[in-house]
Amino acid sequence: MDLKTELRANNEKINVSKINDLRSFLKLLESQTPEDFFKVKKEVNPKFEVTALLKKLENISKFPVVLFENVKGYKMPILANVHATRERLAKAIGVSENMLLNEYIKCEENPVEPTIVKSGPIKETILIKDDVDLTKLPIVTHNKRDSGPYISAGIVVTKNLDTGKRNEGMYRMMLKGKKKLGFWVGEGQHGWYNLQKAWEFKKPLEVAVIIGHHPAVYLGSQSRIPYGKDEYNLMGSLIGSPLEIVKCETVDLEVPAYAEIVIEGEIPPYIFEPEAPFGEYHWYYGEERNSPIINVKAITHRRDAIYQTIFTAHQEHTVMSLPQSEASIYKHVKSVVPTLNNVIMPTWGGKYTVILSIKKMVEGQGKFAGIAASASEAKNIIVVDDDIDIKNDQDVFWAIATRTHADKDFISIPDVKSSSLPPTSYNLRTRAERGSLDVKLIIDATKPIDFQFPERAEPPEEVVKNIILDEYLQKKVNIKKIQKSSDINKKI
Ligand code: MN
Repeated sequence: MDLKTELRANNEKINVSKINDLRSFLKLLESQTPEDFFKVKKEVNPKFEVTALLKKLENISKFPVVLFENVKGYKMPILANVHATRERLAKAIGVSENMLLNEYIKCEENPVEPTIVKSGPIKETILIKDDVDLTKLPIVTHNKRDSGPYISAGIVVTKNLDTGKRNEGMYRMMLKGKKKLGFWVGEGQHGWYNLQKAWEFKKPLEVAVIIGHHPAVYLGSQSRIPYGKDEYNLMGSLIGSPLEIVKCETVDLEVPAYAEIVIEGEIPPYIFEPEAPFGEYHWYYGEERNSPIINVKAITHRRDAIYQTIFTAHQEHTVMSLPQSEASIYKHVKSVVPTLNNVIMPTWGGKYTVILSIKKMVEGQGKFAGIAASASEAKNIIVVDDDIDIKNDQDVFWAIATRTHADKDFISIPDVKSSSLPPTSYNLRTRAERGSLDVKLIIDATKPIDFQFPERAEPPEEVVKNIILDEYLQKKVNIKKIQKSSDINKKI
């Protein structure tokens, strides 16, 4: 039985619905890892109090899912932090954390088309015309300087007006009124191309915003699959069955039948309004811009809908899109360095740092892998040998410290296309202002193979393997004593 089949069998045993929606995932958490899911009954304010609690948990390195059941001034509960750990992302696609990258790549290669259904829970409440009121949603204000409440877990569905091809991606939306949202999408993102295409025809771009769904659906929305490929197909593969979708009420788009909330609207051509500051994925504020707006035409939601938010500029915001970037870099590098072993973008790297391990077979392959990986959003690329555990920062920094010569193994490439969002991005002329260029750094920390490099000093592997700790350290008291005496030594 493969891991996914096993997971589904488990779900059936604990009476989780066969439909993979947000509720089925929460039930799964409740039954399997209750310590990972908290329900807050105390009344909370969606302005700063929700994120302040999450920050307090972050301070003690805790990232549980939190459901705020009692939100001041609102009927709907708020759910946060669902995507804050790799372990939960892995659980969402039915594998253990060390299989996340492999399984995600497998799903990208095996898309499953969505099925159109007539109706679904998302149509339990339909609000159009005068009934549309965004201020009834408990939209969260996340960070101190944010310009207002922001929808941060909104998957935006759009179509290319030429080809009719659908796209799903996540972009930030600021609450501006009962029927108005500020909207910003980065240049070059797939939603941005669809917006440019509609505006070329002087037409508004129709949008549908999905809020609240199974984390595998969110995982799919953050993919790096090529423009023109529908993320709904990937979502189907990730949740393990075709995504059921229904037609929207006021726009020519389709949305998941089991989503919690959907907002329908359109982006009028060439209308811009001030938007941001907003805490972004790199944990800094993105400054005020003139951004497009969305005129909202309808809101549909489940009867007892859960409003989902993502704690922006914090761990959840970073972690939720790391596996997708790792997958993209993995495929890219693997095509030129077949002995690529593993890829990781550490959470502390703010999506800008990637570490690769390779089994080096030919001299120069470290830099070759680094160059291939640099054609991505990563600006700092570290390449190590396959004896280094890339999930262990200590091991990686040890390799950099002991296997590199800065003059030939640290290579920087200035003036490479970036996005204008990173705090270090710059323009060509003055370099002082924000622009769409940045500098790539490749650190080749692989050992040379053309001549002997010193061997890592370790006791013989087979002797280590045969040690059973309990046979040597029988009483816990002894271990404590050892720790204490070493602590004392450190102080001296
Ligand atoms: Mn896309």
